[in-house]
Amino acid sequence: MSTLQIVSTLFCSLLVWGQTPKPSRAIPALVSRLKVAVDPGHGGDDRGAMGKKGLKEKEVALELAMVLKDRLQEAGFEVILTREEDVLIPVWDRAKIANEAGADLFISLHLNAAKARAAKGSEVFFLSQDAGDADAAEAAAQENKGAGQPASQDSVVASILDDMAQKAFLQDSEKLAVALQNQLNRLGGIKERGVKQAPFAVLRTAAMPAVLVETAFISNPKEEAKLRDPVFRKRVAEAITQGVRRFFVQVGITPKRKALNPLSSGTPRNARKPS
Ligand SMILES: [Zn+2]
Repeated sequence: MSTLQIVSTLFCSLLVWGQTPKPSRAIPALVSRLKVAVDPGHGGDDRGAMGKKGLKEKEVALELAMVLKDRLQEAGFEVILTREEDVLIPVWDRAKIANEAGADLFISLHLNAAKARAAKGSEVFFLSQDAGDADAAEAAAQENKGAGQPASQDSVVASILDDMAQKAFLQDSEKLAVALQNQLNRLGGIKERGVKQAPFAVLRTAAMPAVLVETAFISNPKEEAKLRDPVFRKRVAEAITQGVRRFFVQVGITPKRKALNPLSSGTPRNARKPS
């Protein structure tokens, strides 16, 4: 159930209560905290990129996601993962899982790979129709491998709706990308590569602010070694969590406020109109 559906249900329930004053226990059951969907990239037969020493992107993405889930939950967020084991979830199903769970944010976790072995650092992307530069185009091409077409694209209408889903949230997606990038830049030894835009399939149908994080370059032996280190993965999770918190503070919603009073926190995030 999306946030909009929850708020609509609450509103209808309140109308009904005006005539029949019960049942008061329904509200706490419907009120949810801010929900973050974390999407560990790849899985199963799709191992993603691989480091020189054999580290697989699909494994690091999942381990990072598990650590991030714990850290976000400690910070008061509700978290759903698009996968919790080594299985392949079709690219087009990932945002669908987040949409159906009524998530307020979508964060897809990946690792970068480049021909230049010295390439390093984190990059946070939000969606665009065309890539901002050649490197962004290459990153999107790598991540979109095997995505095919969305299952819902069997009709023109469904296709248009899919395309519109993320467009309504692009401004907030950029804010989220900047918030995460700022925190990731603080990680020692990670060079700033800046927020970028590219046509990532996994972001297209997300009906919420959505970003793709290329955490580090698995193609860089030094970064591959860092990615094996649980301490580094924890620091990445902490940085992303801080970024998420700052994003929500910036746009005016905190987990506590939403939990206490969802009807007074302005327009539900999933109901925002394109601006
Ligand atoms: Zn990837």
